[in-house]
Amino acid sequence: MQFRDLKRQYNILKEPINKAVTEVMSSGAFVMGSKVEELEQSLAEYVGVKHCVSCANGTDSLYLALRALNIGEDDIVFVPDFTFFATAEAVSRVGAQPVFVDVDPNTFNISPEKLEEEISLWEETGDGCQDLKAIITVDLFGQPADYIKIQEIAKRHGLVVIEDAAQGFGSRIGEQKACSFGTIGCTSFFPAKPLGCYGDGGALFTNDDSLANTCRSLRQHGKGVSKYSNEKIGLNSRLDAIQAAILQVKLSVFDQEIVAVNHIAELYSKLLDDSIITIPQVQEGFHSSWAQYTIILPDEINREDLQTKLQGKKIPTQIYYPTPLHLLPAYHKYATWYKCPNSLSLCQHVLSLPIHPYLTEEEVNIVAETINKIIRSNG
Ligand SMILES: *Cc1c(COP(=O)(O)O)cnc(C)c1O
Repeated sequence: MQFRDLKRQYNILKEPINKAVTEVMSSGAFVMGSKVEELEQSLAEYVGVKHCVSCANGTDSLYLALRALNIGEDDIVFVPDFTFFATAEAVSRVGAQPVFVDVDPNTFNISPEKLEEEISLWEETGDGCQDLKAIITVDLFGQPADYIKIQEIAKRHGLVVIEDAAQGFGSRIGEQKACSFGTIGCTSFFPAKPLGCYGDGGALFTNDDSLANTCRSLRQHGKGVSKYSNEKIGLNSRLDAIQAAILQVKLSVFDQEIVAVNHIAELYSKLLDDSIITIPQVQEGFHSSWAQYTIILPDEINREDLQTKLQGKKIPTQIYYPTPLHLLPAYHKYATWYKCPNSLSLCQHVLSLPIHPYLTEEEVNIVAETINKIIRSNG
């Protein structure tokens, strides 16, 4: 069994994907061009926003969003403490300071209450030299952050919301899709993300014409009206036509995959013994894209031991994430003054199980039953 079986998906989509890739190779147009523009249109339509600007990867999409919003030195950006490093890395890369906010242990996402507390604290006690600018919300494991509350907080404190939907593409609150909740939405097409290509890729989404233009310029060396009238210091962060062609094929079956993966998640939640472990919670009216299915183990269960026993039965598991951002070596200078107890506890107790749209019911049964057996016989 594989944690995320990308080969199974390829075998099903082999014919249209091979055809699309061959077409690009015969066309001789490899970077940007009409395939990429077509994809940007399809993605914007899918999300329900005016502009999609593709780029080289999800990390760059966050960097480009921060640059387009003029966030840099002496600025503060609030980020959840429990996420992949790239969320905060982009903030540091523009020279701003990330402030780590604790998460809600039920949803794994940034806690609106802790966010409000942290903002108030900085407003009262900040040294006055730094500007509070933005919040980067993360749709962790596929579930949208609590945008109803977060947008209200952002508005009250004059902060911009940037949505990191690298794991949340395809999720929604009611009928509103991920990547549309912030002033700019960012996503990744890394192969293991909900909508993955066969290499690196990413995109930004916005309804703002001027921000979209700035992102288009920045991703291509800060170009002006022409390619060689560079106006700003940008970077080279373009999507290639082969990835765009692959994504276009995958997008055509994406909604079916989201339905399938939701079915898998429901089955897990029904079968796993929730008197011992905590199964993932989805807020009412929220629909996850299930980038991960993550359980929380109680103190009595030794996680490493469980992982080894599962591996013995050929069931792969992962720990997303083993270390809170504020304790990572790269951020050691902040370690002493941040406390995020929920994030720290999750890092010690979470376990992510195999999940993808092509996992079979039989495989889910095997995983759930094996876990139940091990945890029931524990101690
Ligand atoms: C994967 C990921 C990113 C970065 O995307 P890449 O395409 O790998 O650069 C950023 N944020 C989160 C939450 C992610 O999971």
